[in-house]
Amino acid sequence: MENKNAKQLLLWGLAFIFLILVFQNIKAPPVEKEIPYSEFKAKVKSGEVNEVRVRPDLIRGELKAPGGATQRFKTFPMPDLKLVEDMEAAKVPHFQGEADRSWVMSLIVNVGWIVLFFGLWWIFVVRQVQVGGKQAMSFGRSRARLVDDKKAKKTTFADVAGCDESKEELQEVVEFLKNPEKFQKLGGKMPRGVLLFGAPGTGKTLLARAVAGEAGVPFFMASASEFVEMFVGVGASRVRDLFDQAKKAAPSVIFVDELDAVGRHRFAGIGGGHDEREQTLNQLLIELDGFEQNQGIILIAATNRPDVIDPALLRPGRFDRQIFIPVPHLKGREEILKVHAKNVKMAPEADLSIVARRTAGFSGADLANVINESALLAARKNKEAVELADLEESIERVMAGPKKSSNLMSDPEKKIVAYHECGHALVAKLLPHTDPVHKVSIVSRGHALGYTLQLPKEDKYLTTRTEINNRLAVLLGGRSAEEMVFSELTSGDADDLSKATAFATRMVVEFGMSDRVGPLSLKKPEAEIFLGRDIAQKAGYSERTAEIIDEEVKRIVDEAHGKARELLQKNRKVLDELAAKLFEVEILSGEDIDAILKAAVA
Ligand code: ADP
Ligand code: MG
Ligand code: ZN
Repeated sequence: MENKNAKQLLLWGLAFIFLILVFQNIKAPPVEKEIPYSEFKAKVKSGEVNEVRVRPDLIRGELKAPGGATQRFKTFPMPDLKLVEDMEAAKVPHFQGEADRSWVMSLIVNVGWIVLFFGLWWIFVVRQVQVGGKQAMSFGRSRARLVDDKKAKKTTFADVAGCDESKEELQEVVEFLKNPEKFQKLGGKMPRGVLLFGAPGTGKTLLARAVAGEAGVPFFMASASEFVEMFVGVGASRVRDLFDQAKKAAPSVIFVDELDAVGRHRFAGIGGGHDEREQTLNQLLIELDGFEQNQGIILIAATNRPDVIDPALLRPGRFDRQIFIPVPHLKGREEILKVHAKNVKMAPEADLSIVARRTAGFSGADLANVINESALLAARKNKEAVELADLEESIERVMAGPKKSSNLMSDPEKKIVAYHECGHALVAKLLPHTDPVHKVSIVSRGHALGYTLQLPKEDKYLTTRTEINNRLAVLLGGRSAEEMVFSELTSGDADDLSKATAFATRMVVEFGMSDRVGPLSLKKPEAEIFLGRDIAQKAGYSERTAEIIDEEVKRIVDEAHGKARELLQKNRKVLDELAAKLFEVEILSGEDIDAILKAAVA
């Protein structure tokens, strides 16, 4: 309430200033009659002037009006050296010079505007977060949410699948939270901080919540990016507040998501770092160090950029327990699918192991999404239960965004896309050591106009140079087909080219697969930080090496391009047939493609 009044008062004050400024610009109605200089001069001579005040830019004074009254007047001066003589001759009772004070006025007006704008800025920007009354009291309060799992269903380890090793490591933390005294008695030291790291959507948040759920303790959740506010010092006070809350509720779990938002290397970046972030980080370190031994609080943090975390955070007694959360393997994917399928009615024939096999590289969140989408699809089609077809369609949806109507593309465009995709598919079919082509489609999905879906036979962790070279050729197959058939290039290649360039670059700088560069790892430490820390590390390799890297990347991509062109030129007839068929039916399965290939060879 108090706060609202303060705001209103300020607004009225500003409105007042504003009005004053407006009136000063309009000026008061003239009580002075403006007369021409000639008339003024004549009146001086005829002795009708009582008083004259001369300013460089204005002459004003008083005239004798008929009947003893007076009349104020003003006139604009002209170069007139004889004016004083004339006034003396006419015995004007009072004349004087005046300084030009108009600049004072304009100064006041200008300063007034500045004050006005500053005031508005104050109200709309600063006071949003920093204002008198109660709001100021909570200004430094953390926005941490106490997630009350008692009301909702408690999250437990059973809800998290496909990361058994991570769960095992966290089990110890759960035991400690359940019974801090036991550990105290034995004198064992518990970790204060646990850092979960892994790709987005792999279940880090879920696991942290499950730890609290398993132990039956309160779970405080905050995102580190919320700590970093506009004003220095706010983040630090929010951190303090978060820990205070958690201490009152101990034993408890504090979860800080996106730790990298505050936990980056200090002194990195422009101008030695972000003050606010640094203060927040320092406060976090203070809180971590200040934990009383076995106070019953565990800080769990999550990040997908463990490489940028400040080493100070990883020292013993801080986040000394680091747990990697992997992207799930085949078996893990099936388990995750099962967890999420529990809440959905599945047809008996909907085999989740098939879905798992087709979703290599999907994160837990993606898989949850697949199940959810398939349930929506089945419901839209008024089905009793989710069938395998629904699951398959949702896999593709999750892969490439929602399906668009194909007539968004004009026929000439469709033809280009058909050749482009068949170029990918044909090169993939013709080259050995490539993933089997599962499907080619020119039905737009998301932002991709068409797509060629290759599915690996199994999850793979090692890739040979030949395989990567062939994969590059497949990537360039689309462009090569377009070049050949239309002698023209389109903008649809951008994604293929950036992927190909990225692959080739990694071959050279990471995998040591270029003979000219040799088995060196020349990976830049961190592309994002381009000033600050990078300045010192920029000299990781010489200009000359950089040139060689560029040349090698170009050579590798060029060779793949050449290979793709050659293959397609030799098989132009098959390409034409494939593209025509794809244009017609819009979607070809791996078997369809095989059939066309066979017929063409025969
Ligand atoms: P992260 O924090 O790693 O980005 P989340 O924990 O927020 O990932 O995961 C988002 C959602 O994805 C979860 O709420 C859950 O539904 C699903 N999910 C992710 N990983 C798993 C998993 N291992 N088991 C079951 N569900 C998972
Ligand atoms: Mg998360
Ligand atoms: Zn392409």
